[in-house]
Amino acid sequence: MTLAGAERTALEDRLVALIRARGPITVADYMADALFHPQEGYYTARSPIGAEGDFITAPEVSQIFGELVGLWLVQSWIDMGSPSAFNLVELGPGRGVLMQDVLRAARLRPAFLDAAHVLLVETGGRLRLEQRRRLKDSGVRIDWADRFADVAPAPTLLVANEFFDCLPIRQFVRGTVGWRERLVGLSPDGAGLAFTLSPTPPEPAIDLPPADDVAEGAIFELPDAAESAAEEIAKAVVDHGGRALIIDYGHLHDGFGETLQAVRRHAPWPVLSAPGAADITAHVNFERLTRAAFNAGAGAHGPVSQGAFLERLGLPFRLERLSHGKPPEEVMRLHQGAQRLVSPNQMGELFKAFCISAPGLPAPQGFQS
Ligand code: SAH
Repeated sequence: MTLAGAERTALEDRLVALIRARGPITVADYMADALFHPQEGYYTARSPIGAEGDFITAPEVSQIFGELVGLWLVQSWIDMGSPSAFNLVELGPGRGVLMQDVLRAARLRPAFLDAAHVLLVETGGRLRLEQRRRLKDSGVRIDWADRFADVAPAPTLLVANEFFDCLPIRQFVRGTVGWRERLVGLSPDGAGLAFTLSPTPPEPAIDLPPADDVAEGAIFELPDAAESAAEEIAKAVVDHGGRALIIDYGHLHDGFGETLQAVRRHAPWPVLSAPGAADITAHVNFERLTRAAFNAGAGAHGPVSQGAFLERLGLPFRLERLSHGKPPEEVMRLHQGAQRLVSPNQMGELFKAFCISAPGLPAPQGFQS
């Protein structure tokens, strides 16, 4: 077993040299490099998802997840008036499993598949290859984009599962004399990475709670990249029609506390160890996403817990149907997967579904009790 800290990555050497030359970097810059550096970023070079990798996601746990999302998308397309051409966008499609299940479930509405132009927004080269391989026989037009902004405007249905949690955040710490940005600098021996605080106060334009009301040591996270992404999506659905379904783990309101975390081989990992070899995420702040949607003139629904959302979309019926006539081991596997998605002490509560919607559409499925 490799001990945290015992391993050094090429990216760590590169960051140490950069910080030695230019000084500490923000947590957001560190996250961006660790995850998306063009050669050595975690998502650039690796295929980390699944039992063999570092973490597992809902579509990898059970096919029912993607099938129900597929039916939600079909219903949304009907709510939009069944446009004859639309963008079916997925942000961060991982190994392509969710889109594969979505497209299979959508076969019950061939006109949906005829109208869909699938656009996969993915930075990772290895993951793109896996997506291409998995989806090559889907019979649907599929293209890739580096960024959502590169997708040609059209009515849009978008899905993003565990995408927003990878978007870089900034962190601020209430120091002895007020807020200071938390930075990544060098360890005392100068050989490794360590957290430090900016010696100067944050720019006044940064919107932080009044320092006088906050105890020393408190941490406040600002998800600038997630807010911009939500606003960009909201603008697209307002201008061209459509909806976005965002599923991720996170909290409902602004609050204090650190949620930055790293994971490797299904276990917690120190955030500054072996950058490029571990996943780094932060909890999604749904209050900020809601505000971003409203700022762009879009509607926002939820968040609701993943468990409630999937149950309202008919998970028990789908499970029953899939289990019918299967051998007992297979039935048990299906039940365990479904349970993991909805159980409050597994993925059911922490994960939440959230919808950004063009004004004028009916309330989306799964968001009201
Ligand atoms: N949705 C998948 C994978 C989640 S992992 C699943 O549920 O299994 C996060 C995914 O988002 C990866 O595919 C990663 O490469 C991609 N990603 C993260 N940030 C991105 C960004 N800024 N631009 C494009 N892709 C990104």
